[in-house]
Amino acid sequence: MTGGILTLNAGSSSLKFALFAAGEDRPMATGLADRIGPEGALKIKDGTGAPLPRSEGSLASHGAALHCVLDSLRAAFPGQEISAVGHRVVHGGIVHDKPVRLDAAVMAELERLAPFAPLHQPHNLAGIRAAVEAFPQAPQIACFDTAFHRSHPWVNDTFGLPRAYYDRGVRRYGFHGLSYDYIAGEIARTAPTLADGKVVVAHLGNGASLCGIRQGRSIASTMGFSALDGLPMGTRCGQLDPGVMLYLMDQEGMTPAQITDLLYTQSGLLGLSGISNDMRTLEMSEAPEAAEAIAYFTYRIQREIGAMAAAMGGIDAIVFTGGIGENSRLVRERVCATLGWMGVELEPGRNAAHARVISSDVARTTVMVIPTNEELVILRATRALLQGNERTAA
Ligand code: AMP
Repeated sequence: MTGGILTLNAGSSSLKFALFAAGEDRPMATGLADRIGPEGALKIKDGTGAPLPRSEGSLASHGAALHCVLDSLRAAFPGQEISAVGHRVVHGGIVHDKPVRLDAAVMAELERLAPFAPLHQPHNLAGIRAAVEAFPQAPQIACFDTAFHRSHPWVNDTFGLPRAYYDRGVRRYGFHGLSYDYIAGEIARTAPTLADGKVVVAHLGNGASLCGIRQGRSIASTMGFSALDGLPMGTRCGQLDPGVMLYLMDQEGMTPAQITDLLYTQSGLLGLSGISNDMRTLEMSEAPEAAEAIAYFTYRIQREIGAMAAAMGGIDAIVFTGGIGENSRLVRERVCATLGWMGVELEPGRNAAHARVISSDVARTTVMVIPTNEELVILRATRALLQGNERTAA
């Protein structure tokens, strides 16, 4: 295989991509087509972070956006071939516990899973179709956000509903799996003594969840059937008594579409603050509502870290990642402030410097900051599957 690998992460109105040359782990280019539609915008950077020019062209659909991305990449890197495309796919159902090469049968199966993730899966599949059209000969590999969590014990996989619902797929799938996979690998690589231990990873970005990782395997996630459960997020509510939804339907006459909009796009930090879903904006605001939104966010993280420690039978480390986890010293400080009982003690200078280890030398529980890299997980999985296939063919 001599060509490069393209990784794609197609969201509802966005297409995130990275291009890697053969054998390289650092991207030649990364970028984001945003607000896909009549007002789309496309930003591309080279491997050093310097902006690259974008080609003229429509960003009206995922297919059009991919064409525009590819035209821009061809102009910037003439002669660079693409041998395979790796895709982030939100839902792999109960079957997929690892990446898979896409063919018609797998695509049909992933289509059947769309009702489980109606806001994400159809867009992921649109990205795949666009890539198949652009590279009909290239292998296309799907990497699932749910796959890392398929190791959950039954008690963390089920709800307290009649069994028939579990059998029909109403389960706690968990998401952000590519991020957790990367962090688990980084722990094994850089802190081998922790690799056998009990680690809570806090992926805190616009979406947010915790994962309890014991001996490198996920045993619990705060996210469940959908990416709504668990922690409050930028615009998503997090854990909610299902009785609230019954009330909204029965008493306030809200439709499923209105409730979907409320829970996914109007809640969380945005809904609580009434100001913004963006943590930077809230940290800078002097409004009491902004402070309360941050307080609710950090309080729920503290509670859930306690729950994760109980689920794992102890805790050796906490890892912060994601846009907020990697960059907000305030959120890390607030979260850790009440966790002294579980051996957490931050070293303020290290926290302020966003050091890799931010706990004090005497703390019983190590606290780390590890920037996540979901693209690298997709790249490596794509490479591994291609090499596996090549070996099989040889
Ligand atoms: P992500 O979804 O992982 O890209 O994370 C986005 C979130 O990270 C937003 O809420 C940002 O406000 C937050 N974020 C990024 N940089 C910082 C920073 N320096 N301080 C606080 N929050 C940040």
